Amino acid sequence: MTPAPLVVVSGPSGVGKSTVVAEALRRDPGIWLSVSATTRTPRPGEVHGREYFFTEAGRFDELIATDGLLEWAEFAGNRYGTPRAPVEEHRAAGQPVLLEIEVQGARQVRRAVPSALLVFLEPPSWEALTARLLGRGTEDEGAVARRLQAAREELAAAPEFDEVLVNADVQECAEALLRLVAAAGDRRPADSGDSRRATDERPTNEAVT
Ligand code: 5GP
Repeated sequence: MTPAPLVVVSGPSGVGKSTVVAEALRRDPGIWLSVSATTRTPRPGEVHGREYFFTEAGRFDELIATDGLLEWAEFAGNRYGTPRAPVEEHRAAGQPVLLEIEVQGARQVRRAVPSALLVFLEPPSWEALTARLLGRGTEDEGAVARRLQAAREELAAAPEFDEVLVNADVQECAEALLRLVAAAGDRRPADSGDSRRATDERPTNEAVT
C-alpha cells in the first residue's frame, strides 16, 4: 500500500514557517506535523513533546547511531532531527505528514524519500525577513547574527525545491500549502486506498520521549 504523502516545508529561519504550518493544520487537522528532536534549549512557553523533544547531546548521538532519525542537521549551533518511526507510522496509517525543517534536512529527505514533495517558503523581501528575525527578541545578538547568515545561504536554495511559496499573507500561504498537500495525495496510485484518516490506530511519538 502506498503511504500517504510526505511534504517538507523549508525556508530561512524567520520566514514564518511555523505560523503558516500552524494555520494549515488548524484548517486541516487530518495532517500530522512531525515533532523534531533538538539539542537547543527551550524558549519560554515551549513544551517538551509539543514544539520539540528537547534532547541531551548524548541522546541525540544515540538517535543518530541507531538510525532513529530520517534526517538531521546542525543549525546555528544546535542539532535538529526528524524521528523516523512516527513519520513512517503516520504515513502508513494514511495520514499526510508535514516536516517543518531547514534546508540541509530537506536535501536529506529528498535523497531518503524521493517521492516527498519539497516546498520552500520565501519572504516577500530580505527586509521583511531581517525585521522578523530581529523583532522576535527570543535570541541574543550572536544567535541572531548566525541566523541571518544562515538565512542568506538558505534563500539561495529555493531553486532546488519542487514548489516555492512567497509568504506575503499567512492565510493565502497556508491555503496554497494545503492545495499542494492535496495534490501530492492525488498523485499517488489510485488503488492505494490509503487516503482515509487513521481512526483506530493512532501512531505515537513514543520513540523519542
Ligand atoms: P528554531 O530553533 O527556530 O526552532 O529552529 C531553527 C531551524 O531548524 C528552523 O529553520 C527549523 O525549521 C529547523 N528545524 C526544526 N526541526 C528540524 C529538524 O528536525 N530537522 C532539520 N533539519 N531542521 C529542523
